[in-house]
Amino acid sequence: MSPFFLMDYNSKVEFPPTDQPRGVGVHPHRGFETVTIAYHGRIAHHDSAGNSGIIGEGDVQWMTAASGLLHKEYHERSFSKAGGLFQMVQLWVNLPAKYKMTAPKYQEILREKMGNHVLPDRAGVIEVIAGEYKGTPGPASTFTPVHVYNARLKSGAHVELNFPSSYNTGILVVEGTAVFNGEPVSTDHFVLFNNDGEQISIETNEDTILLVLSGEPILESIAQYGPFLMNTREELEQAIADVNAGKFGVLED
Ligand code: MN
Repeated sequence: MSPFFLMDYNSKVEFPPTDQPRGVGVHPHRGFETVTIAYHGRIAHHDSAGNSGIIGEGDVQWMTAASGLLHKEYHERSFSKAGGLFQMVQLWVNLPAKYKMTAPKYQEILREKMGNHVLPDRAGVIEVIAGEYKGTPGPASTFTPVHVYNARLKSGAHVELNFPSSYNTGILVVEGTAVFNGEPVSTDHFVLFNNDGEQISIETNEDTILLVLSGEPILESIAQYGPFLMNTREELEQAIADVNAGKFGVLED
């Protein structure tokens, strides 16, 4: 679903308290961006470009790996100790060839910094993370045109979304249920739309949270190996050689 390459969805789960670190240790990325969207729980991030941060419920971390970095992603310590509900999405957003080797970057997008489009008739709110909704822009800077929203809809909402038919568009039902163009979809399901129309009609019969993704496809070859997302096999081999040569920097476990 270019430019979105991967969605890693941790649906809602209750973690018991622990003193052991939970998460993913030091690993490299090159050629794309990781976008982590928190619905429940808190995670901490550190990378070899010197960026770190903690995001919690409703927040987003937009990390541009681009030319390459090492990072680690863990449940934030006090959350781990206390335990609790955890629910997150991580997206891999591809970069076009001309931006794959630009410098790494880190955007911490707290919920209060998002575009906040209040819907009429108390239907809820569209939180704009990237792109725009009806003139309300989101704070994320992106390398290609993408729209990323959390639609937090009340029961009885009726909302229309419009995207160019050439864009690839999908919606994850994070909470509740919704009816998309007449078809009901339940919690934890993902809807991938055909590229044959511009309008999406959404109706709800309960309070619902939707992760809305739409973007202009990057029409380039894709070569992927583990944590690298490049255009050619040779670039993957170069990425591995560069990691082994220490060119992705240093980060302690
Ligand atoms: Mn990672």
